[in-house]
Amino acid sequence: MSQKLNLLESVQNEIKMACEKLGLDNSYYELLKEPEKVLVVQIPVRMDDGSIKTFTGYRSQHCTIMGPAKGGFRYHPDVNLDEVKSLSMWMTFKCAVVGIPYGGAKGGVCCNPKELSKGELERLTRGYARAISSFVGDEKDIPAPDVNTNAQIMAWFMDEYSKIKGYNVPGVVTGKPISLGGSHGREQATGFGVAITVKKACEALNIDLANSRIAIQGLGNVGSYTALYCSKYGAKLVAAAGRAKDGGTYAIYNKQGLDVEKLLEYKAKNGTMLGFPGAKEISADEFWALDDVDILVPAALENAINENNAPNIKAKIIIEGANGPTTPEAERILSEKGIAVFPDILSNAGGVTASYFEWVQNLMNYYWTEDEVISKLEHILTRAFDDVYNMHKEANVSLRQAAYLVAIKRIAENMKLRGWV
Ligand code: NAD
Repeated sequence: MSQKLNLLESVQNEIKMACEKLGLDNSYYELLKEPEKVLVVQIPVRMDDGSIKTFTGYRSQHCTIMGPAKGGFRYHPDVNLDEVKSLSMWMTFKCAVVGIPYGGAKGGVCCNPKELSKGELERLTRGYARAISSFVGDEKDIPAPDVNTNAQIMAWFMDEYSKIKGYNVPGVVTGKPISLGGSHGREQATGFGVAITVKKACEALNIDLANSRIAIQGLGNVGSYTALYCSKYGAKLVAAAGRAKDGGTYAIYNKQGLDVEKLLEYKAKNGTMLGFPGAKEISADEFWALDDVDILVPAALENAINENNAPNIKAKIIIEGANGPTTPEAERILSEKGIAVFPDILSNAGGVTASYFEWVQNLMNYYWTEDEVISKLEHILTRAFDDVYNMHKEANVSLRQAAYLVAIKRIAENMKLRGWV
């Protein structure tokens, strides 16, 4: 519980610090410190055995001054109001860093999806869609996949919402299957964005990317595309950490570099990276402490880099692929060691940017090719990187603080223009 409260408090601290650095009076903090609206719903679901079970669902809309609220919804036993509120706040700043016209939202249902049949999952999703239907909409609040939710779940959500409206509303959610109005390029967008951040960070810090060595924690959606794009730029993936079927963690290492495409094929076929030819198994502790790694990408879950492993990290830069992978204490330790941390709200914003493209295409009813999506993505992410990096230099603050300054400056300008303050 206290950990969740800390998450909310730490976002509020970032907002407060940014408002102070920008010379904004306390009114701006008052407008940003809590979500504008939160909805808590009870969702009755007919279970396969005929009984009724009720699940608690949430949706939080943080700040809609920049546009409709945007953010995923997750299915997890730990989902709670404070977590959903904090994550909706992160989304506001992530969208503002990349300059897309959205506010932040997040949702979730407290459940264990592994214990639900496909039919129960569908009925839960349709129930959630009905329960929050008056709260969301393609002009108000656009959900998307998050932890344990996927394209199929978005398809059910969109179908239920469309039935309520009486016509098809593909733009009510993003992350849909392509045939239902999903966007080309969405699948690889987050990893591509992480790789763009790697490329730009290397340029900024005079690291020779073509001869660099990279280690990635978590070769899932984000980590695998990060690895593929970074290897296209010439970087060598030397280590990758994963989660074993029994829940434990492991890592593999090859000083000469791992063939990314072959490794991903091997992982897809065997369900593990262990035993990949030419790689040796190392422990998670050894993974974080590798001394011949230039770039470290945590792309698994939150709090991966903490006060236990941060003192051993020797990489030159950390690019956050996951959301919240570095604890504040770890960040303090890394900063003392001179290791630059490129924050999640910049480096993994490729996902929400491609979601924005999906929504734009749905509203236009006109669809772009993968190349068009990727080139627009590169343009937006490159500009966002430059904005954050310049702010970091000008304001002499950490990269994370710089990202908040860029975001809150944009939001504050709109608040002023619209007369909110
Ligand atoms: P995913 O489930 O596809 O992949 C996560 C991978 O991490 C899996 O391969 C899992 O085995 C591995 N993993 C989990 N715990 C681990 C541990 N302790 N050590 C090593 N490996 C571990 O998820 P994803 O979509 O790639 O998301 C990863 C992170 O990126 C999450 O924090 C997510 O919120 C964030 N993110 C994802 C997107 C997106 O578009 N997918 C966008 C923005 C942020």
